[in-house]
Order: sequence, then C-alpha cells, then structure tokens
Amino acid sequence: MKTPRLLVSDGQGNIFDLPNYRMAGRSARNTIEIDTNELIELPEGSQLFYLPGRKAVGYHYKTRRKTVIDDHFAVAAYIPPSYTHFLMGAYEMTPEAPRLPLHSYTAVGWLNDKFYVPAMHIDKDVKQLPTSFDADTVETKVNEVIRSFPNNRLIAHHGRVCAIEYGCPNAKNFFLNRWEAPIAVASACNANCVGCISFQPKASVSSPQQRLDFIPTVEEIVELAVPHLETAERAIISFGQGCEGEPLLQGALIEKAICEIRKQTARGILHINTNGSKPDVIERLFDAGLDSIRVSTNSAQEELYHRYYKPNNYRFEDIVTSLMAARTSGKFASINYFVFPGITDSEKESDALLNLIDKTQVHLIQWRNFNIDPEWYLNDVCYDYHSNPIGVRVLMNKIRDHFPHVQFGYLNKCSDDIERIVSYA
Ligand code: SF4
Repeated sequence: MKTPRLLVSDGQGNIFDLPNYRMAGRSARNTIEIDTNELIELPEGSQLFYLPGRKAVGYHYKTRRKTVIDDHFAVAAYIPPSYTHFLMGAYEMTPEAPRLPLHSYTAVGWLNDKFYVPAMHIDKDVKQLPTSFDADTVETKVNEVIRSFPNNRLIAHHGRVCAIEYGCPNAKNFFLNRWEAPIAVASACNANCVGCISFQPKASVSSPQQRLDFIPTVEEIVELAVPHLETAERAIISFGQGCEGEPLLQGALIEKAICEIRKQTARGILHINTNGSKPDVIERLFDAGLDSIRVSTNSAQEELYHRYYKPNNYRFEDIVTSLMAARTSGKFASINYFVFPGITDSEKESDALLNLIDKTQVHLIQWRNFNIDPEWYLNDVCYDYHSNPIGVRVLMNKIRDHFPHVQFGYLNKCSDDIERIVSYA
C-alpha cells in the first residue's frame, strides 16, 4: 500500500489533500514516517479536526523531504472508543497556536477516496460506538424513565445532563436498558489532573463535563442499579464517571449501596472506575461485594504520574496497592492506560509497564487514546523526558509475549467476559 496523501486545512472549514505530499505522524516531539502496515480505514463515527495555529507537515513524494506547509493548517482525526492510535497528527507550532480542546489527535491521510489512520480496532464491543445509538430513541427512553422515577436526582442527572447534553454512551445505554450503566457519586477529587475532563481551574481550555453538584442517597443509587442489573443484557454498573470527581472519596456511601444492591440481586457486575488512591477503601468495597476495579493512569512511572495527576495526600504506590488488592481478593482488575505515542511506548515507560503488570497481575489493559493537547502534555508533564520510542504496536506485542494471559481492550468488561478472563488467568 502506498502512503496516503497529506490532508491540510485552510482554516475556513475546508479540508483537502495535497497530491505531492504524503502524510506524516507524530511521536512525542518528532515527525516520523507512517508504517503503512499500521493503517486502517478511518472508523465510522470519527471526526476530523483542523489544528489552529499549527502548520501541516508531510513528506514530499519525490524528494522524500520532510516539508512544513506554510500556508495550511494541520489536520488530525478523533477516532471513536475501541480504536487505539499509534501516532498523532504531525504539525509545527506557530507562536499564535491556542491550546487545543481535550480530545485525542490521531494522524490521518487520504488515499483512493478513503481516509486512513495509524490505529487498531482493539475492542470489538460495540457498546460505546456512535453507530450503536439512535438519538430519537435515546431521548424518548430518557423521558420515559425519568417520568417513572420522578424523585430520583441521579436518574435525572444521567438522563438530562449525561445522556442528552454530554452524549455519554454509558448513560445512553442505561436508558436503553443494556450493557454498562453509570453511577456518579462524587463532587470532589483528591487529584488535580492536567487534562481533567470534569474540572479545569483556568479558562485556557474548557472541561467537556461538569462535576456532579449533589451527592445521591443510597436509595437513589439502588433504584437505578437494581432494575438494570436484574434485566439488562450483559449488565454492569460503574461507579466513577466523567461527570464526577473521585468516587473513593464517597467510599462509605458506595459500601452501603453495594450491600443493599446485593441484598436485592446477585445478577451482573459491580464495578468502579477510580484513580485507585485509597487501597483501604478499595478493600472494604471488595469485602462488601464489588467485583471489578479499573485504575486510570497516564504512566507506569511514578514521576510522570505525579506530574500529571498532582495527587493530594496519596502516592503512585497507593494505586499499585489498590490493583494488587484486587488480585488478593479474587476480583477483576484493569488499567485504564492513556496512550500518548512517543511517551507511552518509550523504552523507560515500557519497562515500567512490564514491572507494573508483573507486580499487580492485572487482567486487562484498556489502551485509551490520551485526550489532551499534545503540546500541553509535552511541555507541562514531559518537559525533560527522554527515552527512545519503540512503537505502540511493538509495546503491545512485547506485553503479549511476556504476559499472554493479559487481555487488551478499550472498555470495561461485562459479566460473561469477566468470568471467562478470570478463569483463563
Ligand atoms: S482523578 Fe479524575 S476527576 Fe480527579 S482530577 Fe483526575 S481526571 Fe479529574
């Protein structure tokens, strides 16, 4: 396959290809050649962005020289959940470049009337694909369910705010009575992530979601969770959502809710998405009946973790202990791992990730495209970081070689998957 053509923008809403130039990719600060074996067609549900204040960069087909296209802006793609990217879009900054919104920026090119991206379809589950939803049906179901539970603030929040305003796939799936349902419980957090999606202290970039402004009661949680667990296909409920802070700060509330839910139904999976900062709380929740935990991190290296998360009163070591607690308790554990090409696949990070997996024996790695302006992350977190990249795909293969039992994916697993993975591991 030939390398696709470079895509550029005039900044006026038009995106087009330049026939003399082939696309390039970005790995940390470096512009690099695309490996055509890593290209797939742009998945349905993707979006193309032009990158303001960033000049397009490509390679001339004949001279093979890297070229900055002075009069056109760079273009990148946002690819949907379940696809992991290998390279970001290439660009050169100008002094006027504004900070980019909290999305991921995958390289994209054009060949024979099709768009291509360096990425892989890592999770075959359709539960968060844009193509799995019909907006009218979602709206009808949201109104119906809210009418059935008129006094439940949590259901109203996940309906009007999450499903309709934010377009959260888990919230939509709750109202469609299938798969994974969200339960937000926390309005505060004990971390200060650079790219937090629910709170941004400065106006330089807006957070796509706002934090929950009330704490639900046990009754409100149970009223949402039990019917879903009892009736939904592949049912799972998840504490810890994009519209809240850190759910472990509401550990006592979650513990009571889990006990009450399990009095009423044994069906489905009880899961938490967390920063893993409080291993003692995690252990109490496992004792109460929590089945599964997902700990998010930008890095397996303490220093990069601390620079990005800026934790209050906890350390990287605590998240390791939380993951280890899952194994000790016989529960399911996964890492939500933010993929930033050039840093995630660097030699130092690869070694650290292998050590982390070895120590915690997690079942699953969710390879998530990092939603952040690349320049922001490089300047504020990785400012003095140097380590050669080996390639995201090579890193994945290395992990498969060392830990064949570790599953790869993008999304939380439902009940059937968890039973299968745990018995295999
Ligand atoms: S842990 Fe989550 S809620 Fe807390 S600051 Fe980080 S991204 Fe935001």
